[in-house]
Amino acid sequence: MSTAATDTVGIDRLADHIRGEVVRPDHPDYDDARSVWNGSIDRYPTAVVRCADIEDIRQGLAFARTNDLPVAVRGGGHNVAGFGTCDDGIVLDLRRLNQVTVDPARRVATAGPGTIGAEFDEATQAHGLATTMGVMSTTGVAGLTLGGGIGWLQRAYGLTCDSLLAAEVLTADGELVRASEQDDPELLWGLKGGGGNLGIVTSFEFALHEVGPDVLCGLTAWSADDTADVLRHLRDIGPTLPDEITPIVICRTAPPAPFLPEEVHGQPIVAVAGCYAGPIAEGEEVLAGLRGFGNPVGDAFAVRPYTAFQRMFDASWDPGFQNHWKAEYLAHLDEDAIEVFARYAVGHTSPLSDFKIGMMGGAIARVGETATACPHRDAPFVLNINTRWEDPEESARHVAHTRRLFEEAQEASAGGVYVNFLGDEGADRVRHAYGEDTFARLQALKRRWDPDNVFRLNQNIPPVADRAGTSAHGVTPG
Ligand SMILES: Cc1cc2nc3c(=O)[nH]c(=O)nc-3n(C[C@H](O)[C@H](O)[C@H](O)COP(=O)(O)OP(=O)(O)OC[C@H]3O[C@@H](n4cnc5c(N)ncnc54)[C@H](O)[C@@H]3O)c2cc1C
Repeated sequence: MSTAATDTVGIDRLADHIRGEVVRPDHPDYDDARSVWNGSIDRYPTAVVRCADIEDIRQGLAFARTNDLPVAVRGGGHNVAGFGTCDDGIVLDLRRLNQVTVDPARRVATAGPGTIGAEFDEATQAHGLATTMGVMSTTGVAGLTLGGGIGWLQRAYGLTCDSLLAAEVLTADGELVRASEQDDPELLWGLKGGGGNLGIVTSFEFALHEVGPDVLCGLTAWSADDTADVLRHLRDIGPTLPDEITPIVICRTAPPAPFLPEEVHGQPIVAVAGCYAGPIAEGEEVLAGLRGFGNPVGDAFAVRPYTAFQRMFDASWDPGFQNHWKAEYLAHLDEDAIEVFARYAVGHTSPLSDFKIGMMGGAIARVGETATACPHRDAPFVLNINTRWEDPEESARHVAHTRRLFEEAQEASAGGVYVNFLGDEGADRVRHAYGEDTFARLQALKRRWDPDNVFRLNQNIPPVADRAGTSAHGVTPG
């Protein structure tokens, strides 16, 4: 454990002046407060400020700046690189700021920076409305939106950031500004993909779309021996599928789920999951081709509340486990790529791991390549390798396996990576996520809003030329 030389008097004063709570190492909640979703991250901040309002955020930020301490901003705490915590710095934990208000007439929702997907969906679905959230309901709306936002509604309504209408932002200088098409379109552009680089978003305003409340949704599973055929099938029928469906292929070990026969439990499977964001009868017809293919070992498609589908995969993704992730946009699923995925689909090193291939296109591709700071709009697929395991002693084996799959999948790379699936992989990979033009435009915004790089615990856009190969936490890039 590293310890900070702490300005104890200053921290006492901060604790006295805020409505929320300051959690220091001697607090009984400290271990809980310092931890994030990824159990591989073990950091010891000087203090975690559980903010109760914007003034708390401002004071916490000012304290960190005055004492020259690093600042970690935490929404849902899901970032796999662990940017929601830090060593010897101040964590601004915004989780308590989770209010969502909905204006059904205007079809607009306003969400606090600590909102998670489940809370957003609950509030908006009360009016039969939704915006693309992540594929699990526990991810923070803040980090999800600021990095782009992939989810089950993406081909119908775009990435989460595509529905972002406006945001209130606390700048590095403690000023509250508004970003919108009217107020500051360039800042709004940067918030749609640029991560937490430009300031602390204190409120998000989203356009909403009609969804559900009941939808046809679920997954069909086959033996992992059928992976090549399933991928070929998806590749071939993909272009004929309407935007209402976003199929995601999941290669994993079968859980003891009731829709799977017992002999399949613990065996590798390949599944295609999705949710039809349109009339149920239409969905039945469209999905017949996807679900009826080959010899499935189980089918869990059903009409359910959209909010239930959003929670369907949560149980497999509890916090606290070890994680190593690698990701890349894919340009195609050619026979070489299919051979690689089929081989790895039967060779997981941990029953907790999976890798997913999500279908892009639809509304995502209709947004121009430079219209947001989240590029790679033409990539037809996104690969996300989510290796998870329990015992930290076994890390080397799982990390090596992940890297091998990632390397072998490179032949299908579309030449970029989705920034929210990046680990702490160094400056070159951040550039890979944005591409040179978007990176340069974000760098100009960074110079305007955060010239001292106060907000650097993120996939960092340095205001000036970066040192290639370094990572935000100074660890060896993965
Ligand atoms: C189980 C799991 C499932 C996931 N599923 C998906 C998915 O379906 N689709 C997808 O696109 N991604 C997904 N992700 C990735 C996820 O989008 C990113 O990890 C994202 O960064 C998480 O946001 P957060 O608020 O939960 O995380 P945090 O760790 O709290 O924050 C992430 C980053 O955003 C910054 N940040 C947070 N709040 C603010 C704010 N208010 N203002 C400015 N900066 C802020 C932080 O500083 C940090 O750099 C998933 C991650 C996990 C662990």
